[in-house]
Amino acid sequence: MLEDAMGRRFYYLRLSVTDVCNFRCTYCLPDGYQGKPDQSFLTLPEIRQTLTAFAALGTEKVRITGGEPGLRRDLPEIISAAAQTPGIRTVALTTNGYRLAERIARWRQAGLNQLNVSIDSLDPAEFHSITGHNRLPEILRGLEAALAEGVSVKVNAVLMRGLPDQLASFLDWLKTTPVTLRFIEVMETGDHPAFFREHHISGQTVKQQLLAAGWQAVQRRRDAGPAEEFWHPDYQGRIGLIMPYSQDFCSSCNRLRISSTGKLHLCLFSDGGLDVRPWMQPHVATTELQDRLTALLRHKAPSHLLHDGQTGGTQNLSIIGG
Ligand code: SAM
Ligand code: SF4
Repeated sequence: MLEDAMGRRFYYLRLSVTDVCNFRCTYCLPDGYQGKPDQSFLTLPEIRQTLTAFAALGTEKVRITGGEPGLRRDLPEIISAAAQTPGIRTVALTTNGYRLAERIARWRQAGLNQLNVSIDSLDPAEFHSITGHNRLPEILRGLEAALAEGVSVKVNAVLMRGLPDQLASFLDWLKTTPVTLRFIEVMETGDHPAFFREHHISGQTVKQQLLAAGWQAVQRRRDAGPAEEFWHPDYQGRIGLIMPYSQDFCSSCNRLRISSTGKLHLCLFSDGGLDVRPWMQPHVATTELQDRLTALLRHKAPSHLLHDGQTGGTQNLSIIGG
């Protein structure tokens, strides 16, 4: 079992399969993708090897992320590799929703159970100005297609000052839409300290509004993500709040990250990744990768240092997928 010095257990792996993205979200890649397109991202055999090692150490859930994972042509094969790994019970994917409607059936057939689609605003013009793409109607059609396929759908919305109707419009939508909406507090990254200062608002204010309106807390599962979730009898959808700046956020940490170039990130905001790619090679026994992961986990810090403005080596979240 993957367990750190503080007794935290790690049931959940976030696997980035590319850092390339076609969107230009204001809080992430406002100038678009600037990396080298010839980067060599993890291959399917390396991914299989990695998933086998993590599953042998107790990982039950894998989230495939990026950059934009939908840009990888072999994404269905990656999903299928995850779904076929003994021990992995949930295969999730985070996407910006680009071409979702035409792709979701194939992803579902490959074994996808859970989909997170990022939609920061239900206003098409606002969505366009945040992401650089006038694609909200298309993405909402993709989301309907995912629900029709029977995939469990969550929507990620970054909570931002300056979007006054964000909560009200999503609440309206959740009355009849059976998805979990997760508001994520803007996190400070190396590239965007000014954006953070101008736009960060605490999820605690939303939590107080929800509780006052009769929303109730949902019990957390052991492979659950970082969100505090709420439900309300009058709404088909649920709301989750991801509040990395709240006290004790790190004490329930149950997830590890692998970057698209094979680095283990013990925290989203650690100083850098630890190279484990040499142990991901198919000719190396998976037990060697397991031993390496177990040894490196001893270095996991008790908490991030975001409160002191220390964002670690993370320049933006497209690098390791948020
Ligand atoms: N491209 C995919 C997408 O946008 O869903 C997957 C990768 S993206 C980095 C994963 C999540 O991180 C998205 O929901 C995005 O909104 C969120 N994110 C990116 N930068 C962020 C920041 N600075 N603060 C909070 N959330 C952020
Ligand atoms: Fe791309 Fe996702 Fe970053 Fe937006 S949040 S720029 S879609 S990686």
